[in-house]
Amino acid sequence: ENYKNASKHIAVLAFPFGTHAAPLLSIIRQLSAAVPGTMFSFLSTEKANSSTFPKDGKLDNVRPFNVWDGLPEGYSFKGNPHEPVEYFIKALPGNFRKAIDALVAETGKRIDCLITDAFYWFGGDIADELNVPWVALWTAGPRALLVHVQTDIIRQHVGINAPEDKALDFLQDFSALRAADLPDGIISGSCDAPIPALLHKMGLALSRATAITANSYEDLDNTVVNMLKSSFKKFLNVGPFNLVSVPPMDDTHGCLDWLNKHEPASVVYISFGSVISPPPQELAVLSEALEESDLPYLWSFRGNPEQQLPRGFLERTSSKGKIVPWAPQLKLLQHPSVGVFVTHGGWNSVLESIIGGVPMIFRPFFGDQRLNTRTVEAVWGFGLGLEGGTFTKDGTIKALKFILSTEEGKRMREKIGVQKELAFKAVQPNGSSIENFKTLVKIVTTTSRA
Ligand code: UDP
Repeated sequence: ENYKNASKHIAVLAFPFGTHAAPLLSIIRQLSAAVPGTMFSFLSTEKANSSTFPKDGKLDNVRPFNVWDGLPEGYSFKGNPHEPVEYFIKALPGNFRKAIDALVAETGKRIDCLITDAFYWFGGDIADELNVPWVALWTAGPRALLVHVQTDIIRQHVGINAPEDKALDFLQDFSALRAADLPDGIISGSCDAPIPALLHKMGLALSRATAITANSYEDLDNTVVNMLKSSFKKFLNVGPFNLVSVPPMDDTHGCLDWLNKHEPASVVYISFGSVISPPPQELAVLSEALEESDLPYLWSFRGNPEQQLPRGFLERTSSKGKIVPWAPQLKLLQHPSVGVFVTHGGWNSVLESIIGGVPMIFRPFFGDQRLNTRTVEAVWGFGLGLEGGTFTKDGTIKALKFILSTEEGKRMREKIGVQKELAFKAVQPNGSSIENFKTLVKIVTTTSRA
């Protein structure tokens, strides 16, 4: 019914892993509010759709459709988070082409615009075939996008397997970054593995997009943003998405009440995002560091804390700490009691820490996390990497002390406070992200390919 009466039909191709589909759905919900009468079909795997869409009731003008996940029959997950991603990548783009055909047949409505996760290098091909605009959404930071766009140039300058400390000073505003900070597969690791190969193709294809939108704002990493603007037809920062439309968030475990009982800027918040769990040995030393520094901590823990944390730790620190399976992170980081965020450096976490004005300590694992770590530490100056890049007891205690109880730590808090204000300014009426969003609305409501 909704499709029959709709004036336009927009197909959305989501990347169903990590924190990708949720921010894409967030911007689609904003668009659907801005262009009434348009139907959005959101194509993702069944599994991702069931966790991305709200459980209670459907969204009126945004409908989930399932795309094949590429998994072999009878597949069972054995714990390597990259494995399902690689199967899915193998199924691209055939699974989406099939799903789009089925979608048009089922709804009887041709597609007027294609919006995809920026990962989908084939977006331009499908959009050309449909003769519609292609809008790509980049869910991470501007710097991470730039290194994928410039991959061939980086390879020419530093070569494959360059020394880790080789500076990336041939790129504007990158002199504080080193070869080792780059994502795997740009100049090290296996460049031909499925994820690096996908990102390389993406970097070459995105200049064909009618527009690229990003979950950031104009005043964050301005030099890099300007480089991206000159590489693309349109580069639109329309974030932080979570400030434009605040996602629903329950506090079933009472984190906010617990925080109310603590002093300002005193609590250590720990989370490694939606997929990562640090190795056992690092969990052990992180626990020891928390215990020895005797700081209040709130830990969003993936897994089973009783089994994975040192014996007796939970009992011994029960008056100091709280461990939950999931926390309302965005709200929690805005609570005045939180003093430092121990994070893996995922882009959403970095943005949310800026929104909360909370300095970070980083333990990066893969993808853009090392790049985010080094950027926050050495370019923006409101966070710390750990010595040696991993948790040690002494290194962790030192970093916690530095942020929570030194003058330099206080200055970090002031610095991130400045970015916090700029982030909020960007989403005020007439703010840069709101104006960019209006441009995006114009693009998706124009049917011909720009
Ligand atoms: N998150 C949350 N509660 C938790 C842990 C994570 O709400 O207990 C959210 C967090 O607010 C962020 C996202 O999960 O929006 C993690 O995204 P990020 O890009 O940092 O990491 P990824 O999950 O992609 O590794």
